[in-house]
Amino acid sequence: RLYNEVIELKGNIRVFCRCRPLNQAEITNGSSSVVEFDSSQENELQIVSSDSSKKQFKFDFVFKPEDNQEAVFAQTKPIVTSVLDGYNVCIFAYGQTGTGKTFTMEGTPENRGVNYRTLEELFHISKDRTGVMRYELFVSMLEVYNEKIRDLLVENSNQPSKKLEIKHAAEGTQEVPGLTEARVYTTEEVWELLKSGAKARSVGSTNANELSSRSHCLLRVTVKGENLINGHKTKSHLWLVDLAGSERVGKIEVEGERLKESQFINKSLSALGDVISALASKSGHVPYRNSKLTHMLQSSLGGDCKTLMFVQISPNSGDLGETLCSLNFASRVR
Ligand code: ADP
Ligand code: MG
Repeated sequence: RLYNEVIELKGNIRVFCRCRPLNQAEITNGSSSVVEFDSSQENELQIVSSDSSKKQFKFDFVFKPEDNQEAVFAQTKPIVTSVLDGYNVCIFAYGQTGTGKTFTMEGTPENRGVNYRTLEELFHISKDRTGVMRYELFVSMLEVYNEKIRDLLVENSNQPSKKLEIKHAAEGTQEVPGLTEARVYTTEEVWELLKSGAKARSVGSTNANELSSRSHCLLRVTVKGENLINGHKTKSHLWLVDLAGSERVGKIEVEGERLKESQFINKSLSALGDVISALASKSGHVPYRNSKLTHMLQSSLGGDCKTLMFVQISPNSGDLGETLCSLNFASRVR
């Protein structure tokens, strides 16, 4: 009984903070880090402002600049692999552009991120359970840009993808009819798919990096499981989301298309914050319908679904304002 209460208090929402290292340009400029870590506490950090005042933040786990992809995945693994036990799971990377959202989720060929490592682990566990469970894994990849949904796994990515919409399925879940679902059997196949999806993301844009920071990229893993002993069947979703950059854009600096984009980003990120904080505070009404992002994820957020938010930060003093904004956002959802 007591054990259940502890679990209940902890809830299904976790927040991990990850601070990237100072980059070469920042070191050359003589920038110093405004983030301090406590060597004895793995869930705390302090931000030192220019007047030397300190503000402390606590999360479920804090990753320091020297923590590598293995260390991050070690903490993430129990959450992502629960999709094999029938749980719906959502993982988000939130933060200012340049803080490592894509590094954490996608990674690089030498330093693969959560997305690839997750699929690798899912294959590994499903092999271990051979004879007890039978699993089928499917992968979809899509982008939400200016509240429009685009399939990133269409055969010919040079063709404009058909407009995708969210529909309500009979079981009370949300579906995206027409979205490509690729059955995957091996990690090599997954890596090729992730690469082609990432490539499709930049089609039609002059600056791939710029565009990717203004759209949300979602990888969906669908797991169909069958218990071979009692015949019980499950279908669950794992969403791995690289969110658009959370930086505020000055209204005076931008106009036209760029202003519209930043308004869509603000709207969807604050809708996400509202949904997660409503879930965390167990308030009755959860406003899923305020953005495409939260609407699409509705059946994977809340209830007994598991949610993990990575709040990504920069140690650079020049980014202090955005860093505080991101940490405050993350504190609100915890
Ligand atoms: P974002 O997606 O948030 O805009 P990126 O993932 O593109 O940020 O990261 C910006 C740069 O910093 C990239 O060159 C990336 O490789 C590097 N980087 C980010 N986080 C780390 C880290 N923890 N360790 C080493 N390099 C990192
Ligand atoms: Mg990115």
